Amino acid sequence: MSDETTSGSAPSPSPAQKEVLYHGIPASPGIAIGTVLLMDNGAAIPPEREADQEETISEDQADREVELFHAALKQTRLEIKEMQKQLQNSLEEREAGIFDAHLLIVDDRMLSGEVENAIRKKQLSAASAFRKVIQKYIAAISSVSDRYLQERAGDVKDVATRITKNLHGLEHRTAEKLPGQSIIAARDLTPSDTAMLDRDNTLGFAIETGSRTSHTAILARSLQIPAVVGMQHFCERLHTGDPLIIDGYLGLVIVHPDEETLDLYRRKMERREQLYAELLQESRMRAETLDGYCIQLSANVEDISGVAEVQRCGAEGIGLFRTEYLYLNAATLPDEETQYQVFRKAAADMHGRPVVIRTLDIGGDKLESTISAYREPNPFLGMRAIRLCRDKPELMRTQMRAVLRAGTAGNIRLLFPMVSSVDEIDDLLDMLDEEKKKLMSAQQPFNGAMEVGVMIEIPSAAVIAEELASRVDFFSIGSNDLIQYSLAVDRSNEKVAYLYNPTHPAVLTLIRDTVRAARKNDIPVCICGEIAADPLLTPLLVGLGVSELSMSPASVGPVRRLIRRITMHGAEELAEKALSCRTASESLALTSEYAKKALPELASLL
Ligand code: PEP
Ligand code: MG
Repeated sequence: MSDETTSGSAPSPSPAQKEVLYHGIPASPGIAIGTVLLMDNGAAIPPEREADQEETISEDQADREVELFHAALKQTRLEIKEMQKQLQNSLEEREAGIFDAHLLIVDDRMLSGEVENAIRKKQLSAASAFRKVIQKYIAAISSVSDRYLQERAGDVKDVATRITKNLHGLEHRTAEKLPGQSIIAARDLTPSDTAMLDRDNTLGFAIETGSRTSHTAILARSLQIPAVVGMQHFCERLHTGDPLIIDGYLGLVIVHPDEETLDLYRRKMERREQLYAELLQESRMRAETLDGYCIQLSANVEDISGVAEVQRCGAEGIGLFRTEYLYLNAATLPDEETQYQVFRKAAADMHGRPVVIRTLDIGGDKLESTISAYREPNPFLGMRAIRLCRDKPELMRTQMRAVLRAGTAGNIRLLFPMVSSVDEIDDLLDMLDEEKKKLMSAQQPFNGAMEVGVMIEIPSAAVIAEELASRVDFFSIGSNDLIQYSLAVDRSNEKVAYLYNPTHPAVLTLIRDTVRAARKNDIPVCICGEIAADPLLTPLLVGLGVSELSMSPASVGPVRRLIRRITMHGAEELAEKALSCRTASESLALTSEYAKKALPELASLL
């Protein structure tokens, strides 16, 4: 599905409502025409929420509702334990015991038995069944004269609210519950909410938070869902059911569009669809400059379902497989076998072309419930990615074994994110050797000669790139984080998005130094951050000497066409000039001008 084919049933404009245009940050290209579905915490807010109405289900839905109920209990248990952990130093023993009491309620077999009964025998939805049972409990406890017991009713209510919230959240995250042709509007959508979106019925989304490189935006591009982010104070002006248009190219949202605007957007969608169809025709062509230099174009995927799109767009490999999405929203941690099967399939489907598997990068803006989350004041500077290994080495070891084993099925490479020092990579390589030995003694087949790379995404890694290059087989520049950490700009904070400048002289210098260090050690450099997908930056990045660009599949076509219209010689000259610019806007102007001249139709692709 191209990003242009996401139109829904065009809403008819309501004569009573005036068209309003809002500006946000373009996060995922494409146009969507549909109606608003307001969401809160990943849960849909229906036009009128009839909280107390009993919701019945059919017999064949019972198993699923029981599952939902247990998933909500599990989530609640995790949350309580996490709170307990956070507060353990600051609470008296007696107060800490409150949480134990809460856990007892969550684990109460009689309670869950009654809820299951109500789901199966009375055919109530999980939420209705739970409400019915818990109300009975609360009424019973409140009616006794014992003051202590009466106070316990407060605890039950507290836990019940938590369970209900989780039930509601989980319930509405499920695909089939979304009304068709929805455009989601929410204060925030976490990466896990986004990964769970019902792709058949979600035409696009607009959220108040985030920026172009927040993981939610990256995921939207990968799922090819048009999206606009950073729409501050937007939701309070909307209602579920309002007609609207999302323009993910320009970062515009039009509420109550009039007939003229609707017409304009329908025509735009048609034109761009044509252009992307044309680009698809070029998918078998190499990304070769006019003077004969080839750049490897690869694609980023978040899960195995993305591989089909990689093949369609003609990418030469998977440059970044973000494995954390195997963990996000999973009810249990994916074990070695599960991961092995996924990686093996990706390698087999790519028929010998490279597949770069990045180890788990949880933390930052991707928080996870199955791995007890660390609540930290600065999550991007805290327990993220490989740093989790110190506390939970088995997470990393399991992944290493799965990747090594899957390496027998194709051309798999292993990539470590968030490396900041030589010690870290040395430890990781030691760990990898240990896991190889274990596989060997278990007589499990694996690829012992697997290539290993590091992500250059922390400025310190770029500075010590020579040392790192002597230890590994390839570099992959994670520009999303490299920019965030070198400019001290939170990549997902819309308020400082104006400072997030990929062409800042400091960023260009770090990329140049990384390439130099890699060349000295004769290893290749890929860029797998979002700048790789921006055709305006392509001439600059090619000129800086990177050998591979990896991006969301939808961007491969435009970037390929651009590379085929430039020369390496010209790109190098451009990079030289850009490196001497004093400001980000000067170098951006240089590369944009160069790109637009080489490819005049670029304007309509952007
Ligand atoms: C990056 O940082 O550029 C990158 C590719 O990784 P992620 O966006 O997942 O942090
Ligand atoms: Mg990163």
